Amino acid sequence: MRIAVVGSGYVGLVAGACFADLGHEIILVDNDQRKLEALRNGQVPIHEKFLPELLTRNRGTRLQFSADLKEAVRLSAAIFVAVGTPPTQSGEADLSYVESVAREISGGIEDYKVVVEKSTVPVYTSDWIRRIILRNGTDPECFDVTSNPEFLREGTAVTDFLFPDRIVIGCDSARSAEVLREIYAPMTSGSYYRRPEAIPQPDRGVIPPPLIVTSTKSAELIKHACNAFLAMKISFINAVASVCESVGANVNQVVHGIGTDSRIGSRFLNPGIGYGGSCFPKDVMAFRAVAREHGYDFRLLDAVVEINEEQRVRFLRKVNSALWTLRGKQLGVLGLAFKGGTDDIRESPALAIVQSLLQQGSKIVAYDPAAMDRAREVLGDQIGYAASSYDAAQGADALLILTEWEEFANLELERLRSALKYPIVIDGRNLYDPEVMAGQGLTYYSVGRAASHPDGVPGGLLKNGKKA
Ligand code: NAD
Repeated sequence: MRIAVVGSGYVGLVAGACFADLGHEIILVDNDQRKLEALRNGQVPIHEKFLPELLTRNRGTRLQFSADLKEAVRLSAAIFVAVGTPPTQSGEADLSYVESVAREISGGIEDYKVVVEKSTVPVYTSDWIRRIILRNGTDPECFDVTSNPEFLREGTAVTDFLFPDRIVIGCDSARSAEVLREIYAPMTSGSYYRRPEAIPQPDRGVIPPPLIVTSTKSAELIKHACNAFLAMKISFINAVASVCESVGANVNQVVHGIGTDSRIGSRFLNPGIGYGGSCFPKDVMAFRAVAREHGYDFRLLDAVVEINEEQRVRFLRKVNSALWTLRGKQLGVLGLAFKGGTDDIRESPALAIVQSLLQQGSKIVAYDPAAMDRAREVLGDQIGYAASSYDAAQGADALLILTEWEEFANLELERLRSALKYPIVIDGRNLYDPEVMAGQGLTYYSVGRAASHPDGVPGGLLKNGKKA
């Protein structure tokens, strides 16, 4: 099927590349000429596993790039809208990009088209898109507006897209549902997975994925409710971690004890410095706002946001309690991306913490496997950029772990200790066992667990290498 995907960001680019791999003919549309040029020249603007392979094998054949939305609409049976929906000052979703795309789409509709919301949007957005397209003179028989929320996570976007837990399509007409069923048929029939060149199945992943068909409004709500629930799980365990710190319990043990309950599940129960990224913060706020607009005061979500913000403050307090004053202290920082596996720094709690530490006068030398170029655009030369974790630790008063990259969980601890000026690690992602760290001569602070000290001696200000 010929499909237009509008917006070539994290979602649009991944969706376009994956749809092409399923066998469809894709026109990826963006209004950012530089991005389009880069994509045409073979560059991959985001860091995602398997994306370079998918782009290489489909570019120029099943995958075309264009700035001409109207023409792309004219040529396509379905138009996926995957532009940004950033938050406004008051927390609502800014739908102006979606509106402008809807207006342009109407100019290209000559025969029946299915317009698909792929962006995360508040319930009722489909009604608005429909109204805008009609207002611009399109025949109501010539299109349907549907919702197909995207659940991919940055860092594992391609495998999440191709091996989803489920595919949700929200359609109010049988005709539009049929078009969406056909688009996903290579996945729902299982035929894609039998191809020798298919992207390999991750550890988890249901084959074939179930297709859930709902009304358009239900599908819009599913996405907001899903992200709000996951954010709530994170805030819940962070709140539990704070109680653990107060009473001397170990949050890892608590997580194991509650996560094995099949009604709860262990995923998204990782205590840390809170959630970030371009989705959870804005989607929780937008869900809160849309509920309020329709007469429901969703106070639970206020608590989710508050706890999340508190986690950063608690972490900064931990840094202070380990190092006392921060002016002039050099801190090694591991991780700038909002989570491991991505170069995305939007709403990154790591970046927010770095900015607070700079305000307190510390000197920062940071390392991130993928996000340093993007961080440099925001932080410039306010911080130093290291070539490795050990470089970041070199001569530092302490090392801070702020993103859960796999390589940060596998450091050579002896090498790390000898690089540091003082053997102190403050881990916002609980990547290490406190006892192991103490055994390696490191004073170690983490979240929801007691601090551990070499030879059990608290304080952590011993000069590196010296025994108590
Ligand atoms: P993004 O900012 O990475 O990409 C948006 C793209 O749209 C940009 O390339 C931009 O140039 C383009 N664009 C904006 N206006 C345009 C227009 N008028 N015509 C053509 N192109 C236009 O955003 P993203 O992270 O891909 O998110 C897109 C949507 O998907 C958001 O609603 C987001 O909430 C949702 N979502 C994101 C993720 C994620 O992990 N990033 C996951 C699920 C859902």
